[in-house]
Amino acid sequence: MAFDPANAIQNLQFFGEFGGVNPSISDSSTYTFLAAKTMFDTFEGNADGCYLYSRHSTPSNLYLASALAAMENTEAALVTASGMGAITPVFLHLCEAGDHVVSSRTIYGGTYAFLKNFAPKFNLTTNFVDITNLELVEAAITPKTKILYCETVSNPLMEIADIKRLSAIAKKHGVKLVVDNTFSPLSVTPANLGADIVIHSLTKFINGSSDTVAGVLCTTRELVDDMCNVTDGAAMLMGSTLDSLRAASILKNLRTLHVRMPQHSKNALYFAQQFEADGVKVIYPGLGSHKSHEIYKSIMHPDYGFGGMLSIDVETEENASALMEAMQEKNVGYLAVSLGFYRTLFSASGSSTSSEIPEDEQAEMGLSPGLIRFSVGLDCNAETSYAKIREVMTAIGLI
Ligand code: PLP
Repeated sequence: MAFDPANAIQNLQFFGEFGGVNPSISDSSTYTFLAAKTMFDTFEGNADGCYLYSRHSTPSNLYLASALAAMENTEAALVTASGMGAITPVFLHLCEAGDHVVSSRTIYGGTYAFLKNFAPKFNLTTNFVDITNLELVEAAITPKTKILYCETVSNPLMEIADIKRLSAIAKKHGVKLVVDNTFSPLSVTPANLGADIVIHSLTKFINGSSDTVAGVLCTTRELVDDMCNVTDGAAMLMGSTLDSLRAASILKNLRTLHVRMPQHSKNALYFAQQFEADGVKVIYPGLGSHKSHEIYKSIMHPDYGFGGMLSIDVETEENASALMEAMQEKNVGYLAVSLGFYRTLFSASGSSTSSEIPEDEQAEMGLSPGLIRFSVGLDCNAETSYAKIREVMTAIGLI
């Protein structure tokens, strides 16, 4: 049977300490030992099943990590206190001063800012390229390149990374392919296509209730152990540890992800089709007009659809502001950043989540000041919701 990420999660069976159907939450920052020697062995990582200190590891974080590793079909995973808390240690662990990264130029603004402004302090440099142009990608790789970085569906331009081909390029040059899969959980399994490390901001669809900030990296057991090494592991030493209470609540929400994603995808496809029919410039990988529609179709698990994210371009910041304010007024959703909530969220990326990218570079990559990114909600009636959007677009003269 073909790999189904939702089944992989469901096939896990966890019990709580008192026979509960949810694993017990470990509500301690430190753990006791009957023998001093076991404490020493645990510190050295040689005492399986023992816990020492909650920055190192906790039962709740390990439960969540094992479910996410199952979902992404990797040997292991490491949960972190934010998506950025998963992203930054990957670069700092795999690269040394003088090394080089090739990254998609359309990525989350925080990741872009880290690579562009922060990493050079440690003499780690990055070439930002159009990830859909595989010749450019390969040409940018140098003998110093350690990482090829992209998002499966890019934020906010919805470019699709052809992970299979990118992985072939990465393998040819001995480079690690790191894929941020935040926009496409369940829809795409990057590790099955050759990605070495798969990252999520759990803050988004996976948790799905906009009440938590968290992240994960999914990869080999060896790399997770290395990154958690107490003497030189970047994840351990940067200290981006997820709290156990949050890990437990994210695990509970993860179990309904396979019910939520098809509804996000169905509503987003409906909105995208309506925007297109109304003559609004719309980017959604589920539309035949999307330049990488066929690539996405070839890599996705069809049951979960093309995802809940779409962007429209209303050309100017003024148009974008007027539309977003009017949509919020009509209760289409919220004028807010982030994604994966049960209500639709919208924001103008150029002046919010991508504002770290200088304006001239935004223009070069096609990020217009009028670009509005939608995280389409779980609306029970997308027709009614779109009717409100059409009404406000008509009222402010956009259609
Ligand atoms: N990756 C993507 C694609 C994102 O959209 C975000 C946040 O918006 C992040 C990573 C960073 O995640 P966090 O805010 O949880 O640190």
